Amino acid sequence: MGAPGSGKGTQAVTISARYRVPAISTGDMFRAAVASGSPLGVQVKALLDSGALVPDEITDQVVSSRLREPDATAGWLLDGYPRTLAQVAALDSCLAEYDKQLNCVLVIEVPTEELIHRLLLRGEREGRSDDNAETIARRLDVYRDQTEPVIAQYASRGIVARVDGTGTVAETAARITAALDPVAGVTSRGCDC
Ligand code: AMP
Repeated sequence: MGAPGSGKGTQAVTISARYRVPAISTGDMFRAAVASGSPLGVQVKALLDSGALVPDEITDQVVSSRLREPDATAGWLLDGYPRTLAQVAALDSCLAEYDKQLNCVLVIEVPTEELIHRLLLRGEREGRSDDNAETIARRLDVYRDQTEPVIAQYASRGIVARVDGTGTVAETAARITAALDPVAGVTSRGCDC
């Protein structure tokens, strides 16, 4: 978890490779749907462009079908989900159904001014339609109002690990590895699972 611009997607690549689990990003799935012009894409395009969240029922459905795919049987990394308390409840039921559990909720922390700077830069470089000043402000508000309570909920379960997301990508990756290796049962000699 982390605010828009905290580096979730970037760090997900490293985490996915190190722990050999698929990185499942709801944002990427929605953007792919928009790009393909599928019915889901048509439904969510305006929401993504405005920085609002996609309704929980749609998002929960997308994630629960993805978690049933064969590559997700041995574990997964969820990037950008759950983002609301209702999504936490939906994920809880989905996991209970499969007798699986969430081992760790990693939160990448970056100060707001740095987030805005990074997102504006990404908007210039990659042309993502939601990386403009107005939409960035909305996404940060949504994160504070709807997603921070999710972190508080998981913190009360004792499964949150917070890492400093400032500095270089490699520095943040090293902090993440230090936080996740013990959870994933990885020793300095490599994964023994
Ligand atoms: P992201 O790439 O994670 O920043 O997500 C981009 C956009 O996709 C968000 O601003 C939302 O419109 C939508 N989105 C991604 N994940 C979720 C989610 N868990 N719940 C609702 N909307 C989401």
